[in-house]
Amino acid sequence: MLTFDFNSPEEEIFYNPFRDLGIRLFFKRDDLIHPFISGNKWRKLKYNLLKAQQQGKTHLVTFGGAYSNHLLATAAAAAKFNFKTTAFVRGENINNEVLAMCKLFGMQLNFVDRETYKNKSQLYKQHFSNDALAYFIAEGGAGYEAELGCREIISELNSYYDHIFCSAGTGTTVAGIINGLSQQNLNSQIHAVVALKNGDFLKHEIDKLLLKPTTYQLHTHYHFGGYAKTQATLINFIKDFTSATGILIDPVYTAKTLYAILDLASKNNFLNGTKILMIHTGGLFGLLGMKEKF
Ligand SMILES: *Cc1c(COP(=O)(O)O)cnc(C)c1O
Repeated sequence: MLTFDFNSPEEEIFYNPFRDLGIRLFFKRDDLIHPFISGNKWRKLKYNLLKAQQQGKTHLVTFGGAYSNHLLATAAAAAKFNFKTTAFVRGENINNEVLAMCKLFGMQLNFVDRETYKNKSQLYKQHFSNDALAYFIAEGGAGYEAELGCREIISELNSYYDHIFCSAGTGTTVAGIINGLSQQNLNSQIHAVVALKNGDFLKHEIDKLLLKPTTYQLHTHYHFGGYAKTQATLINFIKDFTSATGILIDPVYTAKTLYAILDLASKNNFLNGTKILMIHTGGLFGLLGMKEKF
């Protein structure tokens, strides 16, 4: 039996820059769900793992870059629940902290060049079409099962928030949050902060997954140069926040989201006393790959 017991803590964050602006900031601490099965990736895997099990599949096959939180999450979850696991990794054969942990959890890594990597269903077909035990999981865990799992972020909440912020890569987690809210008839304002450059296309990706048309805000100007790119302002923000609160935020997703909240607050987008929730989606293991920057 696969059991999942997330119920991550929901807590108020005391950080002076927000206090000075009259904003009450809260985190849904999905970063605490598991040290390696990064917050939202665990939620995104849940219904995939259950479906694989129902179908009698024993081998998870998935895709990701060399610093992918999704690969690490899949490797750790597969080990925990007794699945075999293989990943197609984008780019030349290298080793780093994330891939080393994937291997330790027993994941088989197949490095493929960037061109070949683009066509994932072709790659899967080529290697696994004859393997009745293999189960395909999309890059980043994206898709319907993943969205379903992310709705539970909302059903776990104990309080109402005026605004809910979440980082977006594929937008699946944000879509789950929007659907979770509409299922409960809650009308918090949703903000997706996009972690990559030219993120306007995500509106379409998110809308495709929605149960009903919903208005939300897509913030596309907080990418700091692009996916996994950083700038001194962002690094200094991470250092200041972490040393002031004892809570880690990662430079790829959550730091950019929190920076966006602070920037919007400083431009008077919120009323005094507004309650803002950020989903802390995790991703902290990747911080080690940036150790020179701190
Ligand atoms: C993958 C990831 C995201 C983005 O999730 P999507 O569902 O792809 O939008 C956000 N935060 C962290 C820490 C992640 O690892």
